[in-house]
Parts: sequence; C-alpha cells; structure tokens
Amino acid sequence: MKIEFQGAARTVTGSKHILHINGKNILLDCGLFQGRRKEAEDVNRNFPFIPSAISAMFLSHAHIDHSGNIPNLVKYGYSGKIYTTPATVDLLKEMLLDSGHIQERDAEYVNKKHKKKGLPEIEPLYTVKDAEKSLDTFIPLPYHKTLNLDNLNITLYDAGHILGSAQILIEAEGKRILFTGDLGRDELPIIRNPEKISDIDTLIMESTYGNRLHKDIENARKDFKDIVSKVFQRKGKIIVPAFSVGRTQEIVYTLDILYRENKMPHIPIYVDSPLSVNVTEVFSKHPECFDKEALEEFRKDGNRFGFGEITYIRDTKDSIALNKRTDPMIIISASGMCEHGRILHHLKNNIQNPRNAILIVGYQAENTLGRRLVEKEKNVRIFGEEYNRKAEVFVLNEFSAHADRNGLLKKVNETNPKKVFLVHGEPTQMDSLAQEIKKRGYDTYTPKPGEIHTL
Ligand SMILES: [Zn+2]
Repeated sequence: MKIEFQGAARTVTGSKHILHINGKNILLDCGLFQGRRKEAEDVNRNFPFIPSAISAMFLSHAHIDHSGNIPNLVKYGYSGKIYTTPATVDLLKEMLLDSGHIQERDAEYVNKKHKKKGLPEIEPLYTVKDAEKSLDTFIPLPYHKTLNLDNLNITLYDAGHILGSAQILIEAEGKRILFTGDLGRDELPIIRNPEKISDIDTLIMESTYGNRLHKDIENARKDFKDIVSKVFQRKGKIIVPAFSVGRTQEIVYTLDILYRENKMPHIPIYVDSPLSVNVTEVFSKHPECFDKEALEEFRKDGNRFGFGEITYIRDTKDSIALNKRTDPMIIISASGMCEHGRILHHLKNNIQNPRNAILIVGYQAENTLGRRLVEKEKNVRIFGEEYNRKAEVFVLNEFSAHADRNGLLKKVNETNPKKVFLVHGEPTQMDSLAQEIKKRGYDTYTPKPGEIHTL
C-alpha cells in the first residue's frame, strides 16, 4: 500500500493525494491550484498522473481548492465515480458551474489583451459545459454509511469545517488511513464539531494554521455587535467581503441571533451575490448537517437565513441600486478576498467615505485587495484606478473555519497514528507543527509534490 502526494504538498491549494492499494488508484480530492496565472494554468491543465488510470475518487468538501479541478479530471479521461456527502454534491452544482463561468470570463479578458498585442487566443481552463458534464459522476455518500469497494471500506465523518465537509476513513489490508480534508473547529455557528476518530495507522492531516492560535469564537458575536453599533451611530454603511460558502451564512446567522436578542439596531442587510444566494438555499436543504443549536433555531422559527431585515440580491440592477442609497446598511458580498465580483463595486463606491466601514471576516491571501485592506493601506487600486481609503477597516478573525495549532495537535492525540503526513499548509506553518508532533514521539512527514511513501 502506497500514498502519493500530488497537490497541496507544502502549499495550500490544489489538494490531490493518491492511494495505491491492490492495483487500485484512489484519488482523494482534486482541487484547483491557485497562484500566478501562468503557473496555475500549467499545473491545472497537466495532471501529474493519467486521469483514466484512477479507479475511484473521494472528495472531502466543496471548497474550490479541493474540488475545482474535477471538470478537467473528467475532461481528460476520468470515467469513474466521485463519492462525497449529499450536501457537498448540492454545493458543487452551484460552485463548479460558477467556477466554469469565472474561467470563461478570465479567458475572455486575456483574449481581449492578446488581440491588441496580436497574440494567439487562449482556451478557458474549463467551461460551464465541462463543469456540467462532471456533475454526472457524483454519487452521494452520507456520513457514517460505509461503502465497500473491492476489499476497501470507506466511511465519511463530519470534519466540522463547512456544510457537508468530511474526514475520509479508508480501511484496507487491516490498516486504517484517515484523511482529514480541511479540519474545522469546535463551536462554529450552524455546523457540528469535527468528529473524533480513534485507532488510526496513517493520518493525512491539513496544517493551514499549524503555527497559530485562534481567539475564542464566542468573542465574535460581541465584537460584531460593537462594530455594527459604532458604524450605525455615525450613519455609515458596513461592507463585508465574504466567501459564498460558509462565511456568508455564518454572518447572516450571527446577525439574526443578535437581532432577536435585541442587541443590534435594526438596519437593513443585503446579501449581494448570486452564488451566495444559491448556496444559502443549499444550506436550508441540509439540516442533517446542522448542530443542535441551529436545529433548534430552525425548528422554532423556520428559515433563519431569511429573517425580516435581510434581502437577497441576484439581479445586477438591484445591486447597482444600492450604490445610490446613503442610509446605514450592511452589505455582504463576494468574492471573499475582494479579487472579483460585486464586492469590488461596493468597495469602489463606499471606500472614500469616512462614515463607512469595511469588515474583514475571512482569510486574505498575499497579493489580494483584501490583504491590502487588512494591512490598512491608505491608497488602494480597484478596477485599475486608485482610491483614497477613508472608510474604517475592522478585522474579525474569530470566524476562521480551520482548526488552529491546538486543534490539530488534539487530532493527532485522539487518532494516535503510527505515521503522520502533513499536507495543505505553507512551509512555515507546517514545519513548526511537524516539530511539535515529532516531539510527542510520532513519525511525521511533510511530503513534497510527487513524493511516494509506503504505508
Ligand atoms: Zn476548505
């Protein structure tokens, strides 16, 4: 039995690992590699393995860095099934199509530039049609239902990271191998805590925050309330860039609770992103993924994502109409790192007014507009033009959906594995965590892309 690491190895995107067991090749995740355009194009188009040689694929969760290259996997010859939770299947129906749109728009943009310079046209990485086709390969596998596949037993357990996220347990040749996917943390709103699994031989674990400790999640509601009250008093707008899956719903849910506890002024809230609106509908369809508190809230009052003050916006003209308004409001929009989408229009229109605020609630990667806002830069470029930022920037890190250093160490203790492979982390985060795990006596590796280990 062997494991091969082909993506998210000493980096955070493009998650792809292959288990070689009994002549079968089992692919875990097929994420999109994100980075500089040229490098990303090469990595995502040229698989380091033959897609048609993969026997079966299991997917941990719907985030694009884990699922986003599935349309290419199918386009380049994979004809097997992809197993994942029912909620993830429904999320992907929205997300892969959206990703196809983004790829088509990106190619159009590049081709416009190429035309001016007399360069040849490029093809999109994949199209909406490719994404649609790949959706036919999905088979929903509910949590805790063991699938038997030629002497392999595969079971999905809740990873507590986003709706439908799973840890994947593979039992073969008397060994138990656990892939955590992205591991969540206790007490996140709406979803359950990560499940405990014991007696593992090989643990393949993410390490995004291997060297960081998160603040307590209970602070989030209080801090959120204080920020809203402060900006409301000066009659400003609050612009919240948020990922469509997970963060948007957590923010809406948190606001709803604050309103009902009368801890917030009643100001209108707009969720302005067609993908966020569609994804929120998927959340409402999957109460089997909710924690006790969320189930109770939904049981009492119906849909907690659709309370009085909230308006969901799909139509572009309704989105544009918000620009003319000057009354206090909260606008939640995508993309989460302010790289594309309607959030850019809201930032452009509101960033120069000192009454307004920008509230950052998610991870902002280097070289993104979001990161420049976190760093409180005074002048930022939006759509190629420079804007003088006068709006106040607030950063709330409490909503992070990843386990921190202590959460990851807890996972190692609980599974008590013979071998640990750390994946999905930047080298500084990963290496620091690896040292700490080694100190505790575990055989620990941080494989590079292409490395193969015998289990
Ligand atoms: Zn994730």
